[in-house]
Amino acid sequence: MDWSAEAIEQLRALWAEGHSTAEIGRRMGISKNAVVGKAHRLHLPARPSPIQREQAAAAAQAPRPVAAPVSAPAPRPAAPVAPRAPAPVPVMRAVPPAVVRPFPRSSARSCCWPIGEPGTPEFRFCTEEAAGGKPYCLEHASIAYVKARDRREDAA
Ligand SMILES: [Zn+2]
Repeated sequence: MDWSAEAIEQLRALWAEGHSTAEIGRRMGISKNAVVGKAHRLHLPARPSPIQREQAAAAAQAPRPVAAPVSAPAPRPAAPVAPRAPAPVPVMRAVPPAVVRPFPRSSARSCCWPIGEPGTPEFRFCTEEAAGGKPYCLEHASIAYVKARDRREDAA
């Protein structure tokens, strides 16, 4: 084997790339023994065997154990759970007249505002046309909902 400068550079390059001596020899068209002998004469750094390379790769890929923090926070005892007081149940005030409909209505669209004293012959409903989806006509709806609002304000 006539080692030209180019051949030596190629050997160094392939050697540095980590090819096996057989592979370097195949690429350079020389025998593996020629590669080994020239590499020895060139004092090229010895490379780990394939098995050692695999082990090194495995070690590099193995997850390193993470060092535990020196001052690990001590587990705090769970705070005593205070028994939660039941939420105060809102006391319902007197039911507004809009909800009190104990009497049959002549029409679903007529005002059901009670007029007169219930139980007396004079008692009747307003029967004006209900407005705005409310159970009362405009006049009685204004009275009913103002009264309901006044009660809420009194309660506040
Ligand atoms: Zn009415």
